[in-house]
Amino acid sequence: MPPSLTFHGDLPDLLHRRWRGRQRLIKADTRRASVKDVIESFGLPHTEVGRLEVQGRQVDFSLVVGEDLAIEIFPVLPPWNVFDPTLLRPRPLTNIKFIVDVNVGKLARFLRMAGFDTLYDHRWKDDKLVALSCREQRILLTRDLSLLQRKQVEFGRYIRALCPNEQLLEVIGLLGLERHVVPFSRCMVCNTPLQPIAKEKIKHRLQPLTRKYYNSFSRCPGCRRIYWPGSHLDGMRQLLPAGPAAE
Ligand SMILES: [Zn+2]
Repeated sequence: MPPSLTFHGDLPDLLHRRWRGRQRLIKADTRRASVKDVIESFGLPHTEVGRLEVQGRQVDFSLVVGEDLAIEIFPVLPPWNVFDPTLLRPRPLTNIKFIVDVNVGKLARFLRMAGFDTLYDHRWKDDKLVALSCREQRILLTRDLSLLQRKQVEFGRYIRALCPNEQLLEVIGLLGLERHVVPFSRCMVCNTPLQPIAKEKIKHRLQPLTRKYYNSFSRCPGCRRIYWPGSHLDGMRQLLPAGPAAE
């Protein structure tokens, strides 16, 4: 019997167009290859795989796919704990940090607004994104499935949602970060952690109404922008239209 692969959850939707939506596939050719290479030959990046099983036993990406093997492929499920080593990802992360591809560029601003360390530059090409993700142990967020097939990418995610606000909620939900959201802590424009600053020192830079109604301010040491709770809340309102902040 030729080897078979069964894709669980939403993984069939991420297969190459030719096989998209099909839950079970047969490996027709007899070439010896690792399960990682076989899965990626059908278009699914290794980053989306949370668990591999053969006859109820967990296996890693190096398993050589041979005759009679029935491989079950499960997605990464929330809450995804990236701090624990697993069979598929033996080198866990020590921090939550992101790098964002240009095809989900607006997500960078929203992640920073929620307080998460996020690198983004629309000029960066794929090689640069992969190198930074690897060197700085950042989770690579993209809607480019082929980028996530690069073998150097250990932690990455194909972003399912299309709207930036839904994308933010998707990332927070996936990694279980709900309690780690700290608005008013990071510059939305340059990613630098903000520092509190006395109102007296920046009073001359404020609009009259801001000067009147706000007393607590932060400054970005990187680009010197001034933030106050309202400045982030305005962004949050756009982000979470159904939230109480929008009332
Ligand atoms: Zn800044």
